[in-house]
Amino acid sequence: MSKNLNAFKMAQRQFNGVAELLNLDPDVREMLRWPTREFKFQIPVKMDDGRYKVFMGYRVQHSDARGPSKGGIRFHSSETLDTVRALAMWMTWKCAVADIPLGGGKGGVAVDSASLSPSEKERLCRGWISQVYRNIGPRQDVPAPDVGTNPQMMGWMMDEYSRLVGEYTPGVITGKPVGSGGSLGRTEATGFGVIYTVREAMKHLGMDPKKSTASLQGFGNVAQYAAIGFTELLGGTVTCVSYWDSMDRTAYTVSKDDGVDTRFLMTITDQYGGIDKDKAKEAGYEIESGEAWISKDVDVLIPSALEGQINGESVKLISDRVKIIAEGANGPTTPEADEVFKERGVFVIPDFLCNAGGVTVSYFEGVQNDMNFYWSEEEVFERLDTKMTRAFKSVLDVSEREKAFMRDAAYMVAIGRVVEAMQLRGWL
Ligand code: NAD
Repeated sequence: MSKNLNAFKMAQRQFNGVAELLNLDPDVREMLRWPTREFKFQIPVKMDDGRYKVFMGYRVQHSDARGPSKGGIRFHSSETLDTVRALAMWMTWKCAVADIPLGGGKGGVAVDSASLSPSEKERLCRGWISQVYRNIGPRQDVPAPDVGTNPQMMGWMMDEYSRLVGEYTPGVITGKPVGSGGSLGRTEATGFGVIYTVREAMKHLGMDPKKSTASLQGFGNVAQYAAIGFTELLGGTVTCVSYWDSMDRTAYTVSKDDGVDTRFLMTITDQYGGIDKDKAKEAGYEIESGEAWISKDVDVLIPSALEGQINGESVKLISDRVKIIAEGANGPTTPEADEVFKERGVFVIPDFLCNAGGVTVSYFEGVQNDMNFYWSEEEVFERLDTKMTRAFKSVLDVSEREKAFMRDAAYMVAIGRVVEAMQLRGWL
């Protein structure tokens, strides 16, 4: 069984567990266990050397019960229908828990993005759209960037869709560049969203943010703005961040006990989230092994890099002082580690709640496209804060009422909302 197949099996298993808790009807379970629609297609692309190469493309719409499907397009060499299915299902729960009127979808192409020239990339993006443009749209399914894709590529895709349907349609896709229908605040959205939920968790636990410390895994888009948010919005101290060094092919932790200066570190970080460790050392930072971030004596851990980082083994390294795990990354904690957190009473803000800020601002982008009226950055952050705070509170309420772990409570809220929409539409 491939690793990729496991992702969908895992998503189904998680769903089955909550379906049991919610005592869901077997027919409803069957409907939600599988995507509503799937598209698998060839994309022939003329390469720079004049020859044609055929790529395999996917779009999966898991659910559109609450609104048009929503989710990114990944360009990744090991992309399969099963990875896309799993991610599409998780998008359904993420949009539902954030209470944005969208369903869940995901797309992909099996390709190593870095192997393409810019013009090949553009032709592949346009080719992806020409294969599915009849099945996506602002009222059907709205893609966005993900691993291996970026705002420029969304700009080409939006242009191709508009050309094919014969009218300018910015709302077909989000994550576009600002200036081509993108929203201000999208860059900060996921990291700031993480911090809004951390702030609410601290209120609930009676912690003083100004006296709190955090350690982060990763220093990419999510981690950078989570670190800025932790210090600048909450007044706390970030003692370390970490990153993958592609030259040394290993991870490093960059720390300073009295607090890292995130904005300085960003000036010595490349576009892939890799820090120049020599310059960091020169500036007085300590460079440790990649695992060091997890054993720091801090109040909050914010894993913001990869999946499966807090597992049955690494969970043993976590200090007793840690009170909050804020999952900036998708799937950073394994079920074994969850069991330890339940025993120890560590407060976990589950990924699809914690990192829902990105999709929330993507939704705002669609709203602004629809109105053809654009908000200031302050307006975006204010609305994002309101949405994230409400989402956090609704999950916390269920967690307290049902005496459920926060992850289970988030699933209960999300699945409950999707099932309610299905009932209200007369599908059940
Ligand atoms: P990114 O590519 O910008 O950054 C990833 C960071 O992780 C880089 O700094 C990289 O060096 C670091 N990293 C990689 N391997 C590492 C390792 N072994 N140890 C330490 N650091 C390592 O990615 P991102 O957009 O910040 O996304 C991070 C996570 O958050 C992913 O799980 C992603 O799916 C999830 N996420 C991102 C968004 C978003 O809006 N960007 C939204 C929701 C969820």
